[in-house]
Amino acid sequence: MSVQLKNAKFIEDLELKDKRVFLRLDLNLPLKDGVITDKTRLNAALPTIKYCLEKGAKLVLASHLGRPKTPEHRKTLSLEPVAKALGEELNIEVILIEEPNSEAPKALLRSLKENQVVLLENLRFHEDETKNGEGLVNSISQYVDVYINDAFGASHRAHASIVGMAQATNAKNRAFGFLIKNEIEVLEKMSQAPLHPYVAILGGAKVSDKIGVIEKLVDHVDTFIIGGAMAYTFLAAQNQPVGKSLVETDKMNFARKLMDRLEVRNKKLLLPVDHIVSKSFADTSQVEEVARIPNEMMALDIGSQTIASYASELKSAKMCFWNGPMGVFEKENCSKGTFAIARALAENGGFNIVGGGDSASAAVASGFADKMTHISTGGGASLEYLQGMRLPGLEALKPPMSSEDV
Ligand code: AMP
Repeated sequence: MSVQLKNAKFIEDLELKDKRVFLRLDLNLPLKDGVITDKTRLNAALPTIKYCLEKGAKLVLASHLGRPKTPEHRKTLSLEPVAKALGEELNIEVILIEEPNSEAPKALLRSLKENQVVLLENLRFHEDETKNGEGLVNSISQYVDVYINDAFGASHRAHASIVGMAQATNAKNRAFGFLIKNEIEVLEKMSQAPLHPYVAILGGAKVSDKIGVIEKLVDHVDTFIIGGAMAYTFLAAQNQPVGKSLVETDKMNFARKLMDRLEVRNKKLLLPVDHIVSKSFADTSQVEEVARIPNEMMALDIGSQTIASYASELKSAKMCFWNGPMGVFEKENCSKGTFAIARALAENGGFNIVGGGDSASAAVASGFADKMTHISTGGGASLEYLQGMRLPGLEALKPPMSSEDV
């Protein structure tokens, strides 16, 4: 097992019968008008939930959903549809607890019975969650005997349910679940035994999220394929015309230096050579393909020559890591590039990992999801793991260095 999980317990090491188990999951599912549009994360959470039920645990499930900021989000980012979907999958009633600190839920939590399942309402409705505040931890940990983290997608965050709750539980009674085990095994293979050619495909909206990854992965990866809005910061750094495309000007200098370093290291960096452009982001009914982006246009997808060159590079790749769509794939006119990457990965027979979030949704929308070696439930977490960063959620599971309770 990976050093990041060394000495941490696995769910199978724990006694769960009659225990009140706090199970932190990543049920941050995409919703449209209250309807779940992709159940990948819910399905990925089921093995651990079912295992706990088989072992006779009393289950307190918890997750965050989106980034609630306004009072209106209390409705739109409620976990209610998720509780319903979980209940249907498990064929069991899943009770949503809106406020664990009020009287009726407290009584329910105190008197939980074997095989009963409750789901706490969106953890991020509490300020304490993202601040790793004690209030939330104290109000929940008193009802909990066992802590299990299976929220890989949130384990790079030092939040209350990820770190505080783990630390408030005796080290003998905290563990990781099946989803985390699975994710780590795949990512370990990528970092410990990379196959070559190894290609990293990076896209999406923000350079700042991913530019550091290129630097950190440079020792392992042979070729970087760049798409999405990210590409336009690189092209602008090369003084190419980018029109009104999204550019992070404060990252241009970094992009320039990075390109120089990749050249010195003999690594390939592929950038778009043609583009699908539109006058507006909101209205993409009129798009055209261009090699040179006009001043008044913004690029919203890669063009057909770029697709051909990226697909040809991916044909011979033995290992690929993909994070971030090549364009605004949510809009049909701007989805070709992203779906072509999914197809190329589906056809190359390599060890191909799709890293979380939008890339996972794009793989599903492309129809090629089942042809990928693995679709990670965590975009940010998998990127940080591959860069060798310690994930706070995994660290918090380990016993303290010198401890009497282990
Ligand atoms: P990220 O979360 O950074 O992976 O970004 C994903 C988002 O990037 C998706 O919602 C895409 O619509 C968006 N995106 C991809 N390409 C572009 C582009 N060229 N311009 C603007 N947004 C883009």
